[in-house]
Amino acid sequence: MRKNRISFVVPLLAAVLCSALHLWAPDKFALLWCSMIVSALIVIETVSASALLGIIMTLGFSLYATVSFRNSAAIAGDMQYLRGFAIIGLPSLSCAMALLARLLRSLLRRTLLARIDASKAQRELRSLREALDCSKDGVAVLDGEMRVQFANQVFMRLFRFFPTFIERKPLYFQVVNTALAGGAYDIEPDQQDNLVKERIAFVRSGNPQPVLLKLAGGKKIRFTCSVLPDGGRMLNYTDVTDMVDEAARLEDLANLDGLTGLANRRQLNVIAHRDFERARREKTPMAIILLDIDRFKRVNDDFGHDIGDRAICHVANICRDSKRSTDFVARIGGEEYVIVLPDTTSEGAMVISERIRRRVEANPLIINGNHLALTISAGVAELDESCGDFASLMKRADRLLYEAKAKGRNRVATVSPEADQAAITHAA
Ligand code: GH3
Ligand code: MG
Ligand code: MG
Repeated sequence: MRKNRISFVVPLLAAVLCSALHLWAPDKFALLWCSMIVSALIVIETVSASALLGIIMTLGFSLYATVSFRNSAAIAGDMQYLRGFAIIGLPSLSCAMALLARLLRSLLRRTLLARIDASKAQRELRSLREALDCSKDGVAVLDGEMRVQFANQVFMRLFRFFPTFIERKPLYFQVVNTALAGGAYDIEPDQQDNLVKERIAFVRSGNPQPVLLKLAGGKKIRFTCSVLPDGGRMLNYTDVTDMVDEAARLEDLANLDGLTGLANRRQLNVIAHRDFERARREKTPMAIILLDIDRFKRVNDDFGHDIGDRAICHVANICRDSKRSTDFVARIGGEEYVIVLPDTTSEGAMVISERIRRRVEANPLIINGNHLALTISAGVAELDESCGDFASLMKRADRLLYEAKAKGRNRVATVSPEADQAAITHAA
């Protein structure tokens, strides 16, 4: 503010001084040079472009006036008129010029600066877009009305959008619907409506918790939504397929038996406990089969551990192929297996265990053209009021298996519900 005032007040004073000096001694140019030096010092002091402009114009007019005074005075000799003009006209003219210079400068500055600002903003926006296009994550920015303002290349590739679709700045619900119609999601058709509603609610709520999206082609995407200061949303899509698949593989490793690929005891505990609780709650039947290969030590001793392993896999495959899709089979020890049969009575379980027993007996393991005969024994137990937990059901099946072994092996033992005594089936 202070500088601005100086910028035209000082040149004005300089002009008045200059004119006065000139009028006092019009033939002494030294005075004009003196005023120029004073003006230059003022410019250095104020360091202002408008002051410089004002002073240059003032000095220009002073110079012009000096020359014209000398000539006019010489020609016309009318000093009175020239003196009046010099005293009143010159300072006013200088002041007006300084003001005009300031106005011009601010006008010029405003338009120039606006242009510079606009092109700078454009450059910044372009480099921001390019940076987001280099991102490995899909990114989309929505405004407060949930309309897409920007989406990067990865986002368009993930959801199979054409750039022209995004350029039209669609609303978010149109984005989800178009992705669904284009087959970007791995989802059943009857789930599609739910998905649209869920996504919209999720984005509207601005919930920062990540969500796992399953896209076509087995892609797993970690989806997060952040609320922007202007009420818009920033959507971020990170491809976590490798991570999720690896986690699933590790979980499988932890839950599956490495030799047979059946579930292991760990997973049996989870599944059996779940089925047991459901059967008790809904008062539906449930049975289990505990199954063991007969005289297996001999197989190991006579043919070696590798052949023993193959025998374990052979029986595992027969169990897997003989059960129903709703049943669940696990290997729980050396050559011991458990089959959990939901919604099944002991009679139903007997049918299945007999089927397995017969198949094992009828299908010897073939090693280099030689047949290795195998048999199994099984205990079948059904859930009833006296079973407090899954472990007590297992104990009952184990007792029955022992009974089947004791009675000569290659047989299945259960408890007849009516007679409450062991009923044993075996080969004729
Ligand atoms: P039974 O008819 O009474 O069941 O007699 P069995 O010889 O089969 O006795 P048992 O069931 O106790 O035998 C289990 C054997 O299984 C003992 C062990 O050497 C063997 N075994 C345990 N795990 C494995 C394994 O992973 N591979 C092989 N090859 N053998 C195993
Ligand atoms: Mg055995
Ligand atoms: Mg055993």
